[in-house]
Amino acid sequence: MKKARKLPSRSQQKPSDCWDLSRLFPDDEAWETAFRRWEKRIAGYAKHRGKLAEGPGALAACFRFDLSFDRAGERLGTYAHLKVAEDTTNDTYQRMYGRFVSAASRAAQAASYIRPEILAIPSGKLEKLIADRRLAPYRLMLERLVRHKPHTLSRKEERLLAMQTEMAETATHAFEQLDNADMKFGVVQDEKGRRIELTHANFLAFLHSPKRSVRRSAFTKLYRQYADHQHTLAATLNGSIQSDVYYARARNFAGSREAALFGDRVPESVYDNLIASVHRHLPSLYHYYDVRRRKMRLRDLHHYDTYVPILSKLQTRHTWAQAVELVIAALAPLGSEYCATLERGLTGRWCDRYENRGKQSGAFSAGSYDGDPHILMNYQADLLDHVFTLAHEAGHSMHSYYSAKQQPYQYYDYVIFVAEVASTFNEELLSRHLLATARDRRRRAYLVNRQIDAVRATVFRQTMFAEFEKTTHEVAESGEPLTLEAFRGIYRELLEKYFGPDFALDDELSLECFRIPHFYRAFYVYKYATGMSAAIALADRVESGGRRERDDYLRFLRGGCSQDPLDLLRDAGVDMEKPHAVDTALDRFGQLVEELDELI
Ligand SMILES: [Zn+2]
Repeated sequence: MKKARKLPSRSQQKPSDCWDLSRLFPDDEAWETAFRRWEKRIAGYAKHRGKLAEGPGALAACFRFDLSFDRAGERLGTYAHLKVAEDTTNDTYQRMYGRFVSAASRAAQAASYIRPEILAIPSGKLEKLIADRRLAPYRLMLERLVRHKPHTLSRKEERLLAMQTEMAETATHAFEQLDNADMKFGVVQDEKGRRIELTHANFLAFLHSPKRSVRRSAFTKLYRQYADHQHTLAATLNGSIQSDVYYARARNFAGSREAALFGDRVPESVYDNLIASVHRHLPSLYHYYDVRRRKMRLRDLHHYDTYVPILSKLQTRHTWAQAVELVIAALAPLGSEYCATLERGLTGRWCDRYENRGKQSGAFSAGSYDGDPHILMNYQADLLDHVFTLAHEAGHSMHSYYSAKQQPYQYYDYVIFVAEVASTFNEELLSRHLLATARDRRRRAYLVNRQIDAVRATVFRQTMFAEFEKTTHEVAESGEPLTLEAFRGIYRELLEKYFGPDFALDDELSLECFRIPHFYRAFYVYKYATGMSAAIALADRVESGGRRERDDYLRFLRGGCSQDPLDLLRDAGVDMEKPHAVDTALDRFGQLVEELDELI
């Protein structure tokens, strides 16, 4: 609150520090005119309805209309979204965004016949359509759609499934209400003696406290509430898993995991390889916990001791210009063209740099086909983490920039499975660059530890979650009941495996499985782990390679969604169907732990 008073208002920001949205729209008035025109076009969807099976010409006309409508919508939506992010308290832009969302949802309704109408075309006829020259620009779109044919039911059955969507979300909604609204965690006294209400938002901050009693108290109080509601939480999580199992069966999938991975065309072996490789490298993680325990001078290490920094923060200061210079220097292995383009964008006006009153917190990157790849930051010169954030967001931006430049609109937008590769790759290069230039021991140790914690949080922890999702869904699919005891038992076993024999596991930690919102959207988190692994393996390859390795990677950045994610990555140089990428990332983790042990 104290800080908020010192913040400038949006209008006090220097234009040169703010993003320039004029490639999207020169001003609000231009947006308004375009929006009115766009809204009127929604009615145009009706013209194509019922005609898609007529022939390639009719189908191509529908695609042309839909894509052009969608592209105009992306431009309108991006502008409104970015305007809201500049100052979330500005009513004008809230209204602008609201109007966009409401029109977009009407448009989605109007377009909702397209998919089922195509899927209802008999297979032989569909094949002919796909092969037709006039549909060549949309061939991949069509093939991706047609893959769903064996998992699409009759019209009547599809109607029933659609009717129960809301009902099927009940378990998730009940969990969210309990978790966010009803559960109260009480008050924790911080290291300065202040009494502060414990919330989801500040729990992690308490775990960063240098005082163990503060950490322990936050831990105990938080889990007390989960213990008090454990039967309800087991019921809601079970409900969500049963719903996954039901939909997978209803749609003729062999299992819920296969159904979840189907969209990205990722075989289940990728998921299993990830888990197997992480298992092989668990001794490095145990080693790290032991280093941490010794450094903290503790007899035993508890979960609430694993977040507090074991090395004091580096005193660093990078003005915006210096941060850009540092990031560009770190990304030199990507070549002069990449660096020059990014430097122009960052010293120019791709990025909205500093905090102001009402601005959205954190950082994000928002690419669009017709505008610049914009970045929102709340940059602070004394935080090294913010330089890493800049490198990360710049990775997304360049991915958008290259894909938009290279691909037609329908194939430019990359999927989540590959999105975090481009951003984490840049963080990895920044980390290596800083390590290569770190002179003193303390600085080196800090950077090594930072990297270790990143891999621990993203590869090890997310894989543990992925394994929990796998096991619980298997139990449900085998017809065994998922009781409270079953959940706690499965999770406890995983904790023992992932934290090792010397870790002091508190009993209540087995309730952690009831506080991870991602578990209500199963088989998603593994992508964080595969993404970071691919990024590290690719950074290795580009750094130690030559022109060919670099060009392979740059081709990946230009690929958008023009191929399936595993194919894009394979062409870039990593095959996620083989254990190599995850092994490379975790071998590096092991080396970093060895180094940290020597350094401190
Ligand atoms: Zn990201």
